[in-house]
Amino acid sequence: YETRQEEKLFGRINAGGKVPLGLKRKSLRILVTGGAGFVGSHLVDRLMERGDNVIVVDNFFTGRKDNLMHHFGNHRFELIRHDVVEPILLEVDQIYHLACPASPVHYKFNPVKTIISFPHLHYFLSPMRGYFEVLNCDLRRLHKTNVVGTLNMLGLAKRVGARFLLTSTSEVYGDPLQHPQAESYWGNVNPIGVRSCYDEGKRTAETLTMDYHRGLGIEVRIARIFNTYGPRMCIDDGRVVSNFVAQALRKEPLTVYGDGKQTRSFQYVSDLVEGLIRLMEGESVGPFNLGNPGEFTMLELAQVVQEVIDPNAKIEFRPNTEDDPHKRKPDITKAKRLLGWEPTVSLRKGLPHMVSDFRQRIFGNQKEGGG
Ligand code: NAD
Ligand code: UDP
Ligand code: UDP
Repeated sequence: YETRQEEKLFGRINAGGKVPLGLKRKSLRILVTGGAGFVGSHLVDRLMERGDNVIVVDNFFTGRKDNLMHHFGNHRFELIRHDVVEPILLEVDQIYHLACPASPVHYKFNPVKTIISFPHLHYFLSPMRGYFEVLNCDLRRLHKTNVVGTLNMLGLAKRVGARFLLTSTSEVYGDPLQHPQAESYWGNVNPIGVRSCYDEGKRTAETLTMDYHRGLGIEVRIARIFNTYGPRMCIDDGRVVSNFVAQALRKEPLTVYGDGKQTRSFQYVSDLVEGLIRLMEGESVGPFNLGNPGEFTMLELAQVVQEVIDPNAKIEFRPNTEDDPHKRKPDITKAKRLLGWEPTVSLRKGLPHMVSDFRQRIFGNQKEGGG
């Protein structure tokens, strides 16, 4: 903003999402790391709609150019193939830092652990060695992205005086002993467990973010995102909603891990994007829980998927993964009070949008069930 007065005025306008008659908002230069991914691409859509200049930095590890193709050719949009683990020089006003290979780890983990859990499948172990090498390689990448990648983006924010928003996760609460989880809860994370690469990586990223804020005066924002679903999710990344939807469409059984009584709270992606923008434009650092407080057991989720896609879909039980959190539900009192934000899309309303997208991507123009 040109003047402090303008900043105050437009800051408030942005937070409320409204521009008063006769006033034109100055467009911003915004960097979205991980912008070719699921959440990132929906965020980019909103920022482009608002008239901002958007630079996406992505290494396409789990993201896809297809998610952003509709912006190609727009002079306000730029896509850079780059790994945030390497430094980069850019001039921007805001940084949404989303880059993080969250899903492949799950998807590499689950086949490995599922197979090892079956004693009669021991003979698989020796071919699985190759899998472990891939897994280790990806885990190193995850650590580097969360730690070095976040450090680089904070260094960039420091050099250009940009506001920095970290997309952290509800996983920082681990297997929570407090329910629902408020931001004041410090969590219950196993530091040496199989999930800790992700959980502890994000906790370190939060620490770095707060240290740059306190020590160097960088303007930062932290979002703790709870399970989010919607169109453009990776189809085979192993997360529960994408698994169930793809399975039901392909006429495969829905794989419920463990007894299916563990709970999660599922948020539709447009609600999350609204929350992220309000957080960036608002006055509070956070951390803020961004999630839908509607809580479902995995069996209830399977039933909703049956209702929406195929009432005859079968359910198959599989061994659960190690250290799986038993319950998760956000306390969003703080986001309601300070950001004026709360989710508006229920699971039953949001799911059909994701189903149409998955149907299109799985079957294309083919006849359903054939592909
Ligand atoms: P996603 O995998 O679809 O998107 C992540 C993007 O980051 C991908 O486009 C990927 O290619 C890119 N990326 C990964 N490593 C990179 C690197 N080193 N350099 C550059 N780009 C890199 O995942 P998503 O669901 O869109 O998640 C976005 C963010 O939100 C992540 O930080 C994730 O941890 C966080 N989050 C998501 C959820 C959820 O339920 N979707 C929940 C909690 C937190
Ligand atoms: N960095 C970057 N782009 C920039 C500024 C910094 O990628 O525009 C990286 C830089 O290479 C460093 C990290 O961010 O590795 C942290 O930068 P900072 O200036 O905070 O630390 P320093 O370089 O002084 O160790
Ligand atoms: N899950 C399941 N079936 C699947 C995939 C996952 O029952 O096909 C369970 C998993 O054990 C966990 C919950 O669904 O209890 C959410 O898993 P996800 O990987 O989607 O998210 P996270 O565990 O990171 O919250």
